[in-house]
Amino acid sequence: MEKFIPLSVPNIKGNELKYVEKALKEEWVSTAGSFIVDFENNIKDYTKSNFAIACQSGTAGIHLALIALGINSENEVIVPTLTFIAAVNPVKYVNAEPIFLDCDDSLCLDAKKLQQFCEEECNFVDNKLINKKTNKHIKAIIVVHIFGNMANMEDIMDIANKYNLKVIEDATESLGTFYTQGKYKDKFAGTIGDVGIYSFNGNKIITTGGGGMVVCSDEKIAKKIKYLSTQAKDDEVYFVHNEIGYNYRMTNLQAAVGIAQLERLEEFIKTKEQNYNLYIKNDINLLSFNKNCRPNYWFYSYLTDERDILIKKLQENKIQTRPIWKLIHTLKPYKNSQTYKIEKANYYYDKVVNIPCSSNLSYDDVLYVCKTIKEIENS
Ligand SMILES: *Cc1c(COP(=O)(O)O)cnc(C)c1O
Repeated sequence: MEKFIPLSVPNIKGNELKYVEKALKEEWVSTAGSFIVDFENNIKDYTKSNFAIACQSGTAGIHLALIALGINSENEVIVPTLTFIAAVNPVKYVNAEPIFLDCDDSLCLDAKKLQQFCEEECNFVDNKLINKKTNKHIKAIIVVHIFGNMANMEDIMDIANKYNLKVIEDATESLGTFYTQGKYKDKFAGTIGDVGIYSFNGNKIITTGGGGMVVCSDEKIAKKIKYLSTQAKDDEVYFVHNEIGYNYRMTNLQAAVGIAQLERLEEFIKTKEQNYNLYIKNDINLLSFNKNCRPNYWFYSYLTDERDILIKKLQENKIQTRPIWKLIHTLKPYKNSQTYKIEKANYYYDKVVNIPCSSNLSYDDVLYVCKTIKEIENS
């Protein structure tokens, strides 16, 4: 019997147990404690951002970013249709409306179509981008760095500046990805727009079980996000709350795991790069990452005309894979939302299969996956 090869699973072989044991022994288990502060500082240093705020999940981080940037029911937000639902739902949490755009060949938001949309479908008046269809103020873009790739931030930031749009970077899948050239050389995914969000969910490149981190360069926004994440407490003693806050803080136990995971992030990326190259060497045609960045190689995307057959047969061979997310504008809660020229997302939705990419995938595992894919395709 062959062993089961999962798609993407945690790799917990470093100092996780040691740090968690320390947190438990010290009985600091909840939403305060030194591991939280240290984890925030370590992420801040690693990503070279000014501020980092640990929170309960990536989704919570996106929600807090939208509130802190002042997005509300008067506003619309430009989002990609090809992404995980958690990038879009928070727009609804703040009672704003999403507008769905296409991806380019990087699978991330298409900057050309973004420009076209702003030009053709909107008016720019009083420094506000107004949607001709609804007369509403489009105030922000959520850019998602899909599968560890870097979206075209050079063009997207130019467009955002031109039309006075806030930029939220959903970098939940792209911790560690940075530009190696160009205007944003050495800048990490998540640190280019107004606010960036990382996730430490179980399938991400590093995990805390569940958790997220918000990074930003503006002190006021950072303070606001931390304030909102801790029940908007204005007085510690008398429990005065002047705003509606949230219980979105990360726990010290999760942060203890996060610190140990972050210690190994570069090692994980190296392994993922090696395995990516091994697939390519064995003629497995994976989508490439943008050449102007060092990606974190989080997820591998294989292109096939026989998506469903391949997934099913790999499953029979105990190899776990999955199709890309069902496009969000086609999902029930969003089927009446506005869309603009969605073409490539349909193409990639039909063709992409994500194949095993865990950082503990062995050389033999990769070769077995390659061999099995070829056998299926030649049968
Ligand atoms: C994982 C993920 C999120 C949400 O992160 P959680 O920590 O699971 O809430 C958001 N957006 C994208 C694109 C993701 O992959």
